[in-house]
Amino acid sequence: MARELISIHSSELTYVMWMVNDSCPFKCWYCPETTWGGTSAPSYDWETCSHALDVIFKKYKRGYFTLNGGEPTSWPYYTKVLEKFDNEPNWNIVTMSNMSKSLGSIKTWASKNAQVVASFHPNVINTEEKRRKWFDKVLSIKEETLLQIRLMWDPLHFDALLKIYNDFNDDDIYLEPARIVDLYNDLKDHVGIVNEYTPEQSKILGTLRSKIGKNFIKRSNDPIVTTLTYDNGNTQVLKNMDTWDWMQNISVTKKNRFKGWSCSIGLNNLYIDPKGNIAKAVCKGSRQLFISNFDTIDHTEWPDRNTRCTYEWCFCDPEILISKRKK
Ligand code: SF4
Ligand code: SF4
Repeated sequence: MARELISIHSSELTYVMWMVNDSCPFKCWYCPETTWGGTSAPSYDWETCSHALDVIFKKYKRGYFTLNGGEPTSWPYYTKVLEKFDNEPNWNIVTMSNMSKSLGSIKTWASKNAQVVASFHPNVINTEEKRRKWFDKVLSIKEETLLQIRLMWDPLHFDALLKIYNDFNDDDIYLEPARIVDLYNDLKDHVGIVNEYTPEQSKILGTLRSKIGKNFIKRSNDPIVTTLTYDNGNTQVLKNMDTWDWMQNISVTKKNRFKGWSCSIGLNNLYIDPKGNIAKAVCKGSRQLFISNFDTIDHTEWPDRNTRCTYEWCFCDPEILISKRKK
């Protein structure tokens, strides 16, 4: 009989998902306008932002902030945030970027990140020439930081992506075939995967795993350790890249369902939106359920207990790893 997963327990580092802005020049067809059609100016000043970060540092002790958007490297406070984190030994930045800026610009910030996640969008980088230039530029920073490349698996560019995936072998890189999630569907608690994949595409995509280079694994030294417990009493301990590989497999095989589980969102995780609103996790923030804001952060009632999951899909992949247990 198949064993059933009853608990996920991850080491207690804090992961903050910070959507710093909602403006981006790419306007990808599968990306909601609320992600790219906003204004470039922040709705709070730098002092307010800096103070809010100090409060979070003090409360949560150590971990990672993942900056995304929009395009985070166009955000006016991006350089200031990197400088601030430079002085915080317990806190690291990971930047998710479409890498549309020039190489000169990218080199000014790449090495200040614990990891750079470069998203390849074939609907914009859509010719052989553009693809060659994009990969040359991105791969040229691989000595300066840990580099992950996400192939955004646009069903309209399926064959080009498959060729890139099959031809790509680089010991320094973590290459991820990234299924595109339809957030709107998910919020209506539907299937949670973009609808446009044909059954054949879906089948092929289901067989593709991340290609994690051996040098990337050596250099990453990722501190996350996740213990899985099954109903037959067996446990499995995942370390380093195995953790992320397991997470991706859970998502691809659509086992990312934890409705009714007791989930520790907010205890070691937060989500911040472009207006400085703070939620316990992306799953709450995407539904506009906030616990605080940069302006009012000194009056926050911080979470102190688990939350019962009420959602059909745990659609934000890293949130699969948030500690949770059945019942
Ligand atoms: S690059 Fe990213 S943020 Fe920009 S439009 Fe495309 S998916 Fe959205
Ligand atoms: S959807 Fe949210 S509450 Fe539910 S399991 Fe995932 S992170 Fe936890």
